[in-house]
Amino acid sequence: MGVSTQPRPGAPHAHFIDARRLGADDSSTLMGPSAKIEFAEVTKDHGFGDVGYAQWQFVPKGEYRNVLLLNGNHLNLEVSNDSIVGITERVGSNNSEKRIGIEGLKAGKAWLIAVDPKSGSALARLEIVVGKQLRLKLGVYRLFHKSGQPNTTCSSVKTSLIPTVNSVYQPQSNIVVKAENTSCKPLNTSRDFGQPIMLTELLEYLRAKNWPSSEHISVILVGAMQESHTGRDDLYGYYDPVSQCVIVEDLFPLSKMGLVLAHEIGHHFFGSTHTKDPDNLMRKGTKGHHSIHLNPEQIKTARSLL
Ligand SMILES: [Zn+2]
Repeated sequence: MGVSTQPRPGAPHAHFIDARRLGADDSSTLMGPSAKIEFAEVTKDHGFGDVGYAQWQFVPKGEYRNVLLLNGNHLNLEVSNDSIVGITERVGSNNSEKRIGIEGLKAGKAWLIAVDPKSGSALARLEIVVGKQLRLKLGVYRLFHKSGQPNTTCSSVKTSLIPTVNSVYQPQSNIVVKAENTSCKPLNTSRDFGQPIMLTELLEYLRAKNWPSSEHISVILVGAMQESHTGRDDLYGYYDPVSQCVIVEDLFPLSKMGLVLAHEIGHHFFGSTHTKDPDNLMRKGTKGHHSIHLNPEQIKTARSLL
């Protein structure tokens, strides 16, 4: 292939122009509007997304991700850097598509480009980021105060809560939660935060404590709590950016508690705002019925903070 089909990492403007040039007009003229040539995910919530100028796939280093190239079985595939990704391809279940296996060989960025063998034009491009495993260090504590304590046991923290959080973050971003020696320490205090626990009073206590610097986030499991000034009792989870503590009510089944915790950890990474996308981990007010999806921006942001 000629030089013009090669990707130009570090020249995002050029990528953008190329992506527009090969937009709907080209493909619809050739193949009809329904036959758009594009990459698609095989497994939901495995790091695939759209970044505007291209489609995007995160691949944990040492792992594989599969994508489809729709309506592009006649195209050649080119990889910009085969020391970063290894590609295997075969015909997909539909004759017009390719099924592509991507192996993350080395941390870095590479492009997978579908090229028309006749014209040499790039007709679809996938930006691939390969990332090594990053650790998010959590301290998990159970709050014992005068009026109560959580029901969650130490073993369920290890066997359910932490694995649920990992099932959200690892496949999408290769971020793994580590909760070693603090995995369920009791947090004993002679104070009384009420029954239900008053959030403002609890925050005041948590902010005054010195948390181990080895913990990115300290997770506090509590019984029922409510917002002190509004009486709102449907909080389920709360992230406090001042103390970098996540508070999780343990009234839910453990799998849902794990999703609440994953969402609150998301506030640590992404700030206090929620997404409008209903199919996203950071959708508001889902009471533990979260979708677990992270978009490319979120994956990049979370990884950049560790
Ligand atoms: Zn939230």
